[in-house]
Amino acid sequence: MAYAYDDQNIFAKILRKEIPNKTVVETDHTLAFEDIYPQAPVHVLVIPKGAYVTYDHFAESASDAEIADFNRVVAQVCRKLGVSADEGQGCRFISNAGEHGVQEVPHYHLHILGGRPLGRMLQKAD
Ligand code: AMP
Repeated sequence: MAYAYDDQNIFAKILRKEIPNKTVVETDHTLAFEDIYPQAPVHVLVIPKGAYVTYDHFAESASDAEIADFNRVVAQVCRKLGVSADEGQGCRFISNAGEHGVQEVPHYHLHILGGRPLGRMLQKAD
């Protein structure tokens, strides 16, 4: 089954420059920008410019150049904002996918959260 990409999603509109964003890093393949409702002092979203819905869609279908560039941008953001575990105090990378992942925006994005202790990753819910 193929992923269906909705080109009216909010990140597609950001990429078309129909709505503004606070850019942190931009390359030919990738855009990193501040989350509009930050959950931590550092909360950046990294998105590919291509039309991918989820992490696994991107990993399955993007070119090697897109995948390499995306990952390099993640590292650049961490260095730039001082949240790498190397020079800073670390961060958390999250990517929500689909219904159970509670993904709100159906364009693949990686959250980078940092700038404070983030607690445990998940609470067990029965
Ligand atoms: P997710 O639940 O993983 O799909 O997360 C979507 C994220 O996009 C949320 O953290 C929102 O705060 C963020 N968001 C929604 N609209 C915008 C926007 N216009 N600019 C920046 N971030 C946004």
